[in-house]
Amino acid sequence: MPSLQSVISCLSDYDPTALPVAQANRIIGEVVEPVRGVEQLAIRSALDRVLAEDIVSPIDVPAHDNSAMDGYAFSGAALQATQTGEIELEVIGTAYAGAASDSRPGASQAVRIMTGAVMPAGCDTVVPQEFVEVLADGARIRFASDAVRVGDNRRLRGEDLARGQAALSAGRILQPADLGLLASLGVAEVRVRRRLRVAFFSTGDELRSIGEPLDAGCVYDSNRYTLHGMLRRLNVDLIDMGVVRDDPAALEEAFRTACETADAVITSGGVSVGEADYTKQIMARLGDVTFWKIAMRPGRPMAFGRIASNGHDALLFGLPGNPVAVMVTFYHFVRAALHRQMGASVPPLPLMRVRSAQAIRKKPGRTEYQRGVLAQVADGNWEVRVTGQQGSGVLRSMSEANCFIVLGHDQDSVKTGDLVEVMLFDGLV
Ligand code: AMP
Ligand code: MG
Repeated sequence: MPSLQSVISCLSDYDPTALPVAQANRIIGEVVEPVRGVEQLAIRSALDRVLAEDIVSPIDVPAHDNSAMDGYAFSGAALQATQTGEIELEVIGTAYAGAASDSRPGASQAVRIMTGAVMPAGCDTVVPQEFVEVLADGARIRFASDAVRVGDNRRLRGEDLARGQAALSAGRILQPADLGLLASLGVAEVRVRRRLRVAFFSTGDELRSIGEPLDAGCVYDSNRYTLHGMLRRLNVDLIDMGVVRDDPAALEEAFRTACETADAVITSGGVSVGEADYTKQIMARLGDVTFWKIAMRPGRPMAFGRIASNGHDALLFGLPGNPVAVMVTFYHFVRAALHRQMGASVPPLPLMRVRSAQAIRKKPGRTEYQRGVLAQVADGNWEVRVTGQQGSGVLRSMSEANCFIVLGHDQDSVKTGDLVEVMLFDGLV
C-alpha cells in the first residue's frame, strides 16, 4: 500500500490548508486498497454485496428462438409471396412453452404458438392472435400481410446473453436485477468480497448519549446515528463504540480497539484547528495521518490516514463535529473510499442540471454542498430551492432536503433561473 506521505510528496500544488475536494479524493483514492477476503454465497444472500469474480454466461439466454406473443408462427417468406395483401395459412399444430416442438410447417402452413414456446423449424415470424381471423373450420387462419414484418415477435436465442459473454464484472454491487440475471444463467452461488468492518465513535466532552440527562451546555450525540444510518446503507458491519471522553487514555484505548477490530475507523469531532483536545495528537501518534482544511462548505476540517496498533491497521477518517459536516464529508469522501476498500467499482453519481428557484450566494475557490429540495413546478420542469438555514449544525437542512445543490470549486454566485447541478439523495433501486 502506498503511504500517505509518498502520495502527497508527488503533488506539486499540495496545500493541506486549502485542499480542493477533487484533490483530497484523488489522494484518498490512491491510498485505499480493497480488502482481500472472499466468501461464497447463495445468490439471494449476495444482494448488495460486492462481486469478487467476473461472471461469464455458461449458456445462451434464451436457449432457443422463441415466441414473444401468443399467436401463430410461420415463415416470413409468405409475407413477400402474397399478391392480394392477405395471407391464408393452414394450422398444423400447437407449440406450448416448456415443450419441444416437432412441427415442421411448410410455406403455406402455421403453428399455433404460446409466449415463450420454441419456434418451430423453418418459422421466423409470429403473427399475434389478435390480428388473425380464424376461419370457420378452425384449421385455417387469415390475416393482412401488413400486420407483421419478417422476424416480428420472435426472441432470438442468446439475445439476452450469449454463451461466453460477460454477464457481470467483479466489483459490481449486486442489485435485484443481477440476482435475476444470475438465476437466468442457472448460477446458484457467487464469490463476493467479505463485508467491511467499520468502527466509529464520537468525541467531545459536551456530548451526551440518548437516555442521559442533558446537562447545561451539552448536546445529544447525533453523529453516531447519522453514521449508523449511512454505514448501514453501505452494507458494512458496524462497530458502534459510543461517545469517548476527551481524555488521552480513553481516546488512545478507543483508537487502538477500533483499529484492531475494524478495516476503517470513523470519528467525529475534535479535528478543528483551534481544538483544545487530544484527538488529533493521538491520531497522529498512532499512524500516518494528515490533517486537512478542505476548500468546501460545510466540512472544512478532516483527518485522513491509516493508524496501526499491535500489528493491525485501519483507515482513519476524522470527520468534523458539526452534524451536517459529518454527513457531507461522509458522502463526498468516505463513501467512495469505503466502496474502494470493499472492492466495489461504483461510477460517480449523476449530477443533473436544473433551474435554481432563487439566487444563491457563493464565492469561487471552494465547493459548496447546499441542501436542496428538487420539485416539479407548474411548467413541468424541475426546480431546486435551498432548505432554509444552511448552517453546518442545522441537521434539519439535511432531513428536509432531497438533494445536494453542488456548487463547484470555481463557481460564482447563482442568479434566480440559472442552471445548477444537483445530486439526488434517493434512487429507485
Ligand atoms: P468540533 O468539530 O468537535 O469542534 O465540533 C463542532 C460542533 O459540532 C460543536 O458544536 C459540537 O458540539 C458539535 N458536535 C460534535 N460532535 C457532535 C455529535 N457527535 N453530535 C452532535 N453534535 C456534535
Ligand atoms: Mg469538539
